[in-house]
Amino acid sequence: MQASLDRHSPFPSSAPSRADAKAMDASDPMGRARDHFLLPAGLVYLDGNSLGPLPRLAPNRIFQAMRQEWGEDLIAGWTKHGWMQLPMTVGDKIGKLIGAPEGTVAACDTTSINLYKVLAAALAERPKRRTVLSDRGNFPTDLYIADGLFKQLGQGHRLKLVDSVGELVEAIDDDTAAVMLTQVDYRTGELHDMEAVTRAAHAKGALTVWDLAHSAGALPVDLAGCDADYAIGCGYKYLNGGPGAPAFLYIAKRLQATYSQPLQGWLGHAEPFKFETEFRPAAGLQRAIVSSPSILSLLTLECGVDAMLRWKMDDIRAKSEALTEIFRILVDSVGENLGLARVSPREFEKRGSQLCYSHPHGYAIVQALIERRVVGDFRAPDILRFGFAPLYLRYVDVWDAAANLADVIETRAYEDPKFAVRAAIT
Ligand SMILES: *Cc1c(COP(=O)(O)O)cnc(C)c1O
Repeated sequence: MQASLDRHSPFPSSAPSRADAKAMDASDPMGRARDHFLLPAGLVYLDGNSLGPLPRLAPNRIFQAMRQEWGEDLIAGWTKHGWMQLPMTVGDKIGKLIGAPEGTVAACDTTSINLYKVLAAALAERPKRRTVLSDRGNFPTDLYIADGLFKQLGQGHRLKLVDSVGELVEAIDDDTAAVMLTQVDYRTGELHDMEAVTRAAHAKGALTVWDLAHSAGALPVDLAGCDADYAIGCGYKYLNGGPGAPAFLYIAKRLQATYSQPLQGWLGHAEPFKFETEFRPAAGLQRAIVSSPSILSLLTLECGVDAMLRWKMDDIRAKSEALTEIFRILVDSVGENLGLARVSPREFEKRGSQLCYSHPHGYAIVQALIERRVVGDFRAPDILRFGFAPLYLRYVDVWDAAANLADVIETRAYEDPKFAVRAAIT
C-alpha cells in the first residue's frame, strides 16, 4: 500500500488539498534541510520525537573516527582529538538550541541518570525542604528516578503529584525543594510556560528541574532567559543523535559552584590524573561528569546537532506550526466522525511539535498506518502520537499521513487481527 492517496481525498473541499501541500513544499525555505538526513524512500516518519533519523554525515564521521582517530592514534586520541572535552563541546552546541550560555550544558550519560544527578543536587541546595512537585502525567522514568533517589536518601523526601500546571503553581510552598516538570508533555504535547513556572517556584524559594526531552530541537527554549535552575534532555529524539545517544544536562552558572555531584566519578574530580584518594570536585560544569565519555556516540550526536544548527530555531518553530496546523485542520475536519478525539491543545502556542489523538482502537490503527509506511507511535492507554520534526518532514508527508489515518479508520483496515498483536516496544 502506498502512503499517497492522490485520487481520493477523504477531507472536505474547504480543507487544504494535496496539491496545496505540494505547493508549500515547493516554496519552503527549509526544504533543503531534509537532505541532511538519510530517510528510507516512501516513508512518512512521524516518530522523530521517539527516535530521530540518521544524519547524512554520521556514517562517514564514525568511520573516520574509528579508522583514523581510534585505529591509528589509539590512546593519543584523547588529547589529539579533544575526546576528553567532547561532552562540553557537544554540550555547548546543544546549548545554542536551548538558550544556554557556554559552559552550562554537558552531553553525557542518559536522561534518567542526568535527572538523578541534578535532582539530588537540587535537594542538597534546599536541605530543609522535603517536597518535589511534579505532574501525574509526567514521563514515568522521571517519577521513578525521583522516588528511587528519595528512598536512597532516607530523609523523608516525597513526591507531590498534581493534575495540571495551574494546580502545580498553587501547590508550591516553603516545603517545596524543587519543581520537576517536562516542558512538553510526552503524551498530550501540551507546552508548559517555563518562565511563569520558574518565577512562581523562585518566589517560594524552590528550584526548577526541567525535562526538555520533547523541547530540545523542537522549539526555541530560553533556559537562561527564564532563569531556569537545572535541565536535562534527550539526544536521540529531536536532536537525531542515534539510538541510546548521550543525553544532556544544564546547570545554571550561579548554581555550579555549589553543585554537589551524587555520582562522584573520577572525571568529576578537580585533578583526575593525580589519582587522589579523596574526591575533590572540579570547578564549574566538569564536576557533573561521572566517567569516560562515549566518544563514538557523542560524535554521532554531534552530527545530529550540527545538522540542526544550520537553521534558526525560530524558523524551525514556524515550520512546526505550519506542519502541525495542516495535520490538525485535516484530522479535525473528519475526526469526530471517525471517533478520534484530539488530546493536544488546539492552539499552536500551547503545543510542542506533536499532535495526539485518542481512539479506542489506537494501537491497531497505529500498526495499520505503519504497514502503509506512515510511522507514528502509540502511548497507552489509547493515544495515537504523531511527532512533526520540521527538519525533514514535507507538507505532503503530513497530508498523506492525515489521509491515511482517515482512510485506515473509515475502511476499518485496522480491524485485521494482525494489527492487534502487541509488540514490546510501542
Ligand atoms: C524519552 C524521555 C526520557 C528518556 O529517558 P532515557 O533515560 O533516555 O531512557 C526521559 N524523560 C522524558 C520526558 C522522555 O520523553
